[in-house]
Amino acid sequence: MNHIFISIKRGESMKYIIQNSESNYSQVIDTIISNRKSEIFSFFNSKEIDLPFNIYIYDSIEELANGLAKRGFKNDPDYMCACHKDEDNSLNFFEPKDNPSKNEWSKDEYENVIFHELIHGIQFTLFGSTPEWLSEGIAKYLDGTYSKGIKWLLDNYINNNPIPNQDEIENEFGMLNYDSYDYAYLMVRYLLDTLGKDNFVDLLRNKEQIEIVKNDLLNKSINYYNMKYKEVKPMKSR
Ligand SMILES: [Zn+2]
Repeated sequence: MNHIFISIKRGESMKYIIQNSESNYSQVIDTIISNRKSEIFSFFNSKEIDLPFNIYIYDSIEELANGLAKRGFKNDPDYMCACHKDEDNSLNFFEPKDNPSKNEWSKDEYENVIFHELIHGIQFTLFGSTPEWLSEGIAKYLDGTYSKGIKWLLDNYINNNPIPNQDEIENEFGMLNYDSYDYAYLMVRYLLDTLGKDNFVDLLRNKEQIEIVKNDLLNKSINYYNMKYKEVKPMKSR
């Protein structure tokens, strides 16, 4: 199937590349960006700057995968529904159906995906590339995925499963049969809680320091929160 891509310029240098010229889904994305970019800039202690993204909108999740492959991006996991690419500072989305089936993305659900990718895009624009666990942990921290809290995550997932080797989280993120995001979130959350937010944000500019703080970070993070939330068992009376 051939598609004519149309290109719409919004703002200084943000550009939409849209597969379906009939679609006005770019307006939905534009509204989310306008409404929510300030909270992201504020987290990064940055004034608001021009966003130089190319924003691709494909017709379907299949077309998103095809389109990325055609642009030279291979090996994306098959659950991938949107992404930010450092290589061309692009945000890549598809337009969910108006009447999705149960296991398809709805437009409502997808709004948080758009916000999540916007976090990646702004972080990259401000700081350049950072390790995947670090950018995913930040995006998950800000996008509200873990609103049930860390104790819930420990009780329901982390403490019922073997702790992966940190090497896998660093080098095979999202490729193995557990949720790498849970661990990335805990690592970032630990850094935020122990360093403080301002020092954490400074860390993003300092690649050497990232190499130092990441040492045994996954185990340290899990131990830290398990200690913090340890239940004090009542003493048995004799
Ligand atoms: Zn992400």
